[in-house]
Amino acid sequence: MPIYEYKCKKCALLTSAFVRNVEREVVPTCQHCGGKTARALSRFAVGKDAARVRSDFGAVPRSAEDYKDPRQIGRWVENQFESYGMDLPDEARTMIDAARDGELPDAVKDL
Ligand SMILES: [Zn+2]
Repeated sequence: MPIYEYKCKKCALLTSAFVRNVEREVVPTCQHCGGKTARALSRFAVGKDAARVRSDFGAVPRSAEDYKDPRQIGRWVENQFESYGMDLPDEARTMIDAARDGELPDAVKDL
């Protein structure tokens, strides 16, 4: 279950929330002042490159819970390219990064 951080539009402090269903995200109100919030880039997801994520999770997700971590999105694709010694195409890289930030590609949103 991913944890997202929301930045208050009023007091600018962060509120963390578990997101049980990424597709039905409920934006929390600020836990400090009750103001409206918007999703902030999570410290959880930022600054972790593939090598770091692998050291945290192993090359293959170990359990169903691991698959729910947004950092696991696209892991298989990355591993396939890596095993052939190829660079991930820019388009795939962009889509995977966006998906890990909780943004689904347009093609997926329309499903
Ligand atoms: Zn606030």
